[in-house]
Amino acid sequence: MRVKFWGVRGSTPTPQAENMRYGGNTSCVEVRVGEQLYIFDCGTGFRVLGQQLRDEFGEKKLPLSAHVFISHFHWDHIQGIPFFRPLYDRADSQFLFHCSSRTRSLKQVMDEQMASPYFPVNLSQMQAQQKFYDIDIGRLNLEDGVQIQTSWLNHPQGCMGFRMETKDGVLVYATDNEPGDAAFDKSVRKLAEGADVLIYDAQYLPEEYAAEKHGWGHSHWREAVNVVMESGAKELVLFHHDPDHTDVVIDKIVHDARNYYPKVRAAAEGMEIRI
Ligand SMILES: [Zn+2]
Ligand SMILES: [Zn+2]
Repeated sequence: MRVKFWGVRGSTPTPQAENMRYGGNTSCVEVRVGEQLYIFDCGTGFRVLGQQLRDEFGEKKLPLSAHVFISHFHWDHIQGIPFFRPLYDRADSQFLFHCSSRTRSLKQVMDEQMASPYFPVNLSQMQAQQKFYDIDIGRLNLEDGVQIQTSWLNHPQGCMGFRMETKDGVLVYATDNEPGDAAFDKSVRKLAEGADVLIYDAQYLPEEYAAEKHGWGHSHWREAVNVVMESGAKELVLFHHDPDHTDVVIDKIVHDARNYYPKVRAAAEGMEIRI
């Protein structure tokens, strides 16, 4: 199982020189289990992943097939969709989108996202087959024994966390989650229980959260450390970096977090983890 980070930034892209080591693209994580491709979220990193997949599958002259999980519809998790070239390329590629339609269907979101005058082409220009699956709390059984467990997180308009269980190990993707609600705090620890790798929202510094970010729907690195330690997950990847946090700030966060738990790193564009 190979995990690769294509977008690690929260809220909005930040293509400034002082952020480039960790990266400025918004949420997108690719997972390969054998030949099968899984994608978590479609922020601006999704566009860059699309270029890489085009090169890889174009060379082999093969269609693409992927399961795409979308945590929620805030811009930083969907903005890459209209710019993902494999959706336009071939009619025999297929994308299976999974997300909750509690607030809206993904099809409608994509339609609206590409509606005039916001975008020059509409959804009908996307040739690839798209299938939309409405998911809620529960467990999905996919190819090769891969199972996905979902859980709601504490975030404005809702957000879904994903636990991916494979023969190689367990990966949890839980971004955009605010601590402090007993039921959600408990359910995210259950989702992360014993995972090999936990990707977790660490947008704020604890002091930023305490001073002015209550109710904004995000966590901080100290809570991320609590979650990894209390859930028995093995490795913590800090994710969804604040747009105002430069590389230097993120380095300091990792340094401070390691004083509490050694197996911590910050997600960076291009970073790969093998499980
Ligand atoms: Zn977000
Ligand atoms: Zn959000």
